[in-house]
Amino acid sequence: MRGIFFYELRVQNPGAVSLATIVRSLKTLTDLKLVQVLTFDPSEMHFEAATDGEFRHYAVCSNCETLTQLKDLEQSINELMKQIEVKYGFTIQSYQLQFFGLCSNCLVKKLLEKSL
Ligand SMILES: [Zn+2]
Repeated sequence: MRGIFFYELRVQNPGAVSLATIVRSLKTLTDLKLVQVLTFDPSEMHFEAATDGEFRHYAVCSNCETLTQLKDLEQSINELMKQIEVKYGFTIQSYQLQFFGLCSNCLVKKLLEKSL
């Protein structure tokens, strides 16, 4: 599932909901860990439902904006968070972990462009 833009919410419900209401609702859902904030671009915030209580981690292609979910690394990331809490006595309340770069398709396109 892709994130939801404020803009999309407002377009789908013109006049039915204010931006302030959307922001308050998303903050509440985020606090309850039912929604995950995905910040790929400082000028835009994306949100994703976290209905299973587990946050997902992504590699984001800077060229085509494709999201690759890092499913196989979820356990490693959770273990890293536990180590931070134990080793440093730090209680993690929230975090953002996203990787930016080029997906394999965009990398191939860029390499082909250079070779021409
Ligand atoms: Zn790409």
